[in-house]
Amino acid sequence: MTFTSSRRAVLTAPLAVATLLTLPRTAFAASAKVGVQMPGAYRTQLGAFEVTTLLDGELRRTIDERFITNVPMYTVRKALESELLPTEFYDNHYNFTAINTGNELILVDVGTGGRFDPSIDQGSVNMEAAGINPADVDMIIHTHFHLDHVGGLTDADGQALYPNAQVFFPELDYQFITDTAARAGMNPFLTRMADHAVRALAAYEDRLELYGDGKAFVPGISAIASPGHTPGHMCVHVESEGEELIVLGDSIGFPELFLANPGWHMSFDGEPTLAVETRKRLLDRIVADGVRIIGYHFTFPGIGRVSRADGRYRFHPEKWRAQFG
Ligand SMILES: [Zn+2]
Repeated sequence: MTFTSSRRAVLTAPLAVATLLTLPRTAFAASAKVGVQMPGAYRTQLGAFEVTTLLDGELRRTIDERFITNVPMYTVRKALESELLPTEFYDNHYNFTAINTGNELILVDVGTGGRFDPSIDQGSVNMEAAGINPADVDMIIHTHFHLDHVGGLTDADGQALYPNAQVFFPELDYQFITDTAARAGMNPFLTRMADHAVRALAAYEDRLELYGDGKAFVPGISAIASPGHTPGHMCVHVESEGEELIVLGDSIGFPELFLANPGWHMSFDGEPTLAVETRKRLLDRIVADGVRIIGYHFTFPGIGRVSRADGRYRFHPEKWRAQFG
């Protein structure tokens, strides 16, 4: 049988080649390359709520001795190598979150709006792909004041992009960015971010509410104080039908490094010691309660759970599900 098939293949091969050579040129016309990435939006269910993570973009950042400030560079490189990650750079993702409770459509942060770095500008495209219309958003909850989280509030002319949303902003961060003494101590990078946040929030002046720890936004959605990255940083706790999720904002970044080494100081944290305390407290709760988490700078879609063994935490990303639910 095998011999017969092989023999037939050999005998017919020259004929096949001859046929191909005489086919009209159009038979080889290549499909045009599309040249753009697929939409970055991922939807999952949490009890009765619908949760969507939206990819705003990614940015390649250099890893040098300034990145982790309390351990030697070789230790950082070793940790990256053990995760099979590049040691000179990392690709930082930017993910914001939409929660539809059935009664309200809520965004937690709004992405960069293309104002943090020109390469990160997919937020509005991915919202549209996810079927989320800015005019339908009832509420925006901000985790902190940094530009990569608030840039998308306004357009290039400073006009509000969410015509019907009430905006909640951490009170301590608002004090920080409007306080003369605090501003005097900021470097140019922080000053730029603080200036932008003040301007963007002014566009929502008539519907801005400052909030603190424990704030209940709607039934099932409340604030957890998580200072360190910024003075007023907040996580958002989401609970529906006994299922829990914490939207982390920037309280935990780069899970491959900071879950294995929660005591490391990251350069972007305003108060690193406080950030470490917050991170450890959150991780203990997340593990003890089996809570799902979304990290703003985790690799998209940035949702998963955490385990602990031998004093080290580990992130377990959820598998992409083709079916919603
Ligand atoms: Zn951030």
